[in-house]
Amino acid sequence: MATINAPTHEPAAGSPTRAVIDTFDRYVVPNYRRFPVCLTRGSGSRVWDAEGNEYLDLVPGWGCNLLGHCPEPIVRAVQEQVARLIHVPNTWYTEPQGEWARLLSERSFGGKAFFCNSGTEAHEAAIKLVRLRTDGRRHKIITFRGGFHGRTMGSVSATAQPKYHEGLGPMLAGFSFAPHGDLEAVEKLVDEQTGGILVEPILGEGGVVPAPAGFLEGLRRIADAHDLLLVFDEVQCGCGRTGTWFGYQHFGVTPDVITLAKSLCAGIAGGAMLTRADLALHLRPGMHAATFGGNPIAAAAGIAAIRMIEEEGLLDQVKTTAEIFRERLEELRSRCPAVVAVRVIGMMIGVELAIDGAAVVEDCLEKRLLVNCTQGRVIRLLPAMTITPAEIHDGCDRLGDAIVEAAARA
Ligand SMILES: *Cc1c(COP(=O)(O)O)cnc(C)c1O
Repeated sequence: MATINAPTHEPAAGSPTRAVIDTFDRYVVPNYRRFPVCLTRGSGSRVWDAEGNEYLDLVPGWGCNLLGHCPEPIVRAVQEQVARLIHVPNTWYTEPQGEWARLLSERSFGGKAFFCNSGTEAHEAAIKLVRLRTDGRRHKIITFRGGFHGRTMGSVSATAQPKYHEGLGPMLAGFSFAPHGDLEAVEKLVDEQTGGILVEPILGEGGVVPAPAGFLEGLRRIADAHDLLLVFDEVQCGCGRTGTWFGYQHFGVTPDVITLAKSLCAGIAGGAMLTRADLALHLRPGMHAATFGGNPIAAAAGIAAIRMIEEEGLLDQVKTTAEIFRERLEELRSRCPAVVAVRVIGMMIGVELAIDGAAVVEDCLEKRLLVNCTQGRVIRLLPAMTITPAEIHDGCDRLGDAIVEAAARA
């Protein structure tokens, strides 16, 4: 393939991409590391840049675009809704918000929804709920090393990774951290001021690591023994991605609260906290809010996403699709010592390497393949539930070549 405007290189002077980057350099806060690529449109697992290059996207929207780029049923639902009612405040009832809450409740543990716009906001709501339940007497929350819960001050304080705290102190008080999987450490941290435990059932940013056997069951036991709220962060693993509606459904452990965002609205901004119905009473009128939370467009997209997953049988399809990924990646591991481990939980995939993953991401980009790297050495894939077998084979060919080439250089 001729490499015109190699995407990891400086875009040529006078190119459309150069012009966009120059505008960003002047006007946009530089808080993101960006590849020198300007994406202009997408369809399914394909995306195109301003130079006309086509990419295969194995991490569409960093997990937000659960159903691929611009899925037709979501586009249609949003177009219809946006022409009827864009936004009204939560002082009024709307049909889509109630319907959305009902669909989520029926597919989880029968609780109630608080809607917001992002994962971090969903955790802020959960932190408040833990505190409000005991009028602040038991404000402490135990979280886990390697977890990630968001960037606002409450959620970042809950995130037990020092790199996210740098320069931001003091953190919000009340969080204590246990090693992931260590029930004894959790027991030791519980005191009379502890009100909750917050954990990802499957670590996402932490390297795509499912809870070890017995861990979530143990947390449920500890929570019940000490009257703590068990909160599962399902921002990355929820909403069907892993082949069940929610991550916790793989483990047979029911939490009291789950937080959702990312894929919740198939690419439209939206977040939610689902809570047991009896706990919902602690969030009384005036105690918490999000202006755009549960807005008609997000709700229309969220409803359309659930319907599309069911009408197209995507929860079952994901199981088959995941097996193709597993076979291909295990085959790669068997012939490439740079691949240390392969973890496939539906469309949540981690390929742990013995070499630097950032270089592999760059090599993939040269091959017009979009993947992500987390924790330095884990290639993370969050493919669309709609990805086709042909696309998986194509993607695994390119990823395999990139890893083998990077290993040869290392
Ligand atoms: C992305 C993520 C968050 C934060 O979500 P935002 O929408 O970026 O605030 C929280 N928890 C997990 C597990 C995530 O993957």
